Amino acid sequence: MNGTLYIYNSLSRCKQPFKPLNAPHVGMYVCGPTVYGDAHLGHARPAITFDLVFRYLKHLGYKVRYVRNITDVGHLEHDADEGEDKIAKKARLENLEPMEVAQYYTNRYHAAMDKLNVLRPSIEPHASGHIIEQIAMVQKILDHGYAYVENGSVYFDIEKYNKEHPYGILSGRNFEEMLNTTRELSGQEEKHNPVDFALWKKAEPKHIMRWPSPWSDGFPGWHMECSAMGCKYLGETFDIHGGGMDLMFPHHESEIAQSVAANGKQPVTYWMHNNMITIGGQKMGKSLGNFITLDEFFNGTALQPHDHPLLHPAGPLPQHVGLQQRSPASRREGLQSPDGSREGCQGSESYRRCCFT
Ligand SMILES: [Zn+2]
Repeated sequence: MNGTLYIYNSLSRCKQPFKPLNAPHVGMYVCGPTVYGDAHLGHARPAITFDLVFRYLKHLGYKVRYVRNITDVGHLEHDADEGEDKIAKKARLENLEPMEVAQYYTNRYHAAMDKLNVLRPSIEPHASGHIIEQIAMVQKILDHGYAYVENGSVYFDIEKYNKEHPYGILSGRNFEEMLNTTRELSGQEEKHNPVDFALWKKAEPKHIMRWPSPWSDGFPGWHMECSAMGCKYLGETFDIHGGGMDLMFPHHESEIAQSVAANGKQPVTYWMHNNMITIGGQKMGKSLGNFITLDEFFNGTALQPHDHPLLHPAGPLPQHVGLQQRSPASRREGLQSPDGSREGCQGSESYRRCCFT
């Protein structure tokens, strides 16, 4: 290969020379979108970040298999184990089939990524197309004693797991601290411990996205798809897993626990995380309602500053974002996140990379 690539590994918290498991082949998995709404600037960031990684690895001469999933089932409101499925809710509100919603927003996501010149991944697996693989992995975790069945749902037993494998190695969270800070939420009485998470959920009668399983008619927990699909297409251990920093906990931490519980080994050699696009120090997110869609970004809807509640009268949007990133005030005061707030960058080991000075 031409030259050495150094990767900041979120797991080891340091820069490491990149050594693939099976050079010249590289396996890279990146968490893709949950397709229940239009992509916004926050979605563009991981796509562009890992597009650069993908292109650069290929430039170095590696043969890269890049897997980026589409979440079309199992991602519940507030990223929790209770509540309505985000796609099913959209389908109910618009009187559509859930898969109609997923297809519509997948198509629009692809169109937006094409406009950003982001390459398509090598494989783009859908969670709903891998229910069999997810059920098989849940069964493996049960067989190994790291999960329990309660009223048709299956939960990961974090206390049991933590006795043999430290839980929290990626996010730095400590199990005891988590026990003290996790609230008992209503509707979660089935869990033996409030920190446990769902591997499989029994569907309520009104829940339309459901599949048969050995435990109940239901649907997989949100974290399960990435463990099952990463393993299927890249192996039990692969080179790079990427995603936004907001996914580090609980999503990626849970992925690690699931894979170790099922396969007895760490699933990933290098964990890579991009920082967030922020607005006023807060992550840009659909559920927070503080987002600028890529359509607005592309077609000029947001070009009139007064038309968009998130914009100040500072000129067309692309310049506005750029101006904030490079403003003299930003340079004087040091490093800031793309929306100009320090809060957006604080606490991140990799914050320098999110900033323009
Ligand atoms: Zn994921």
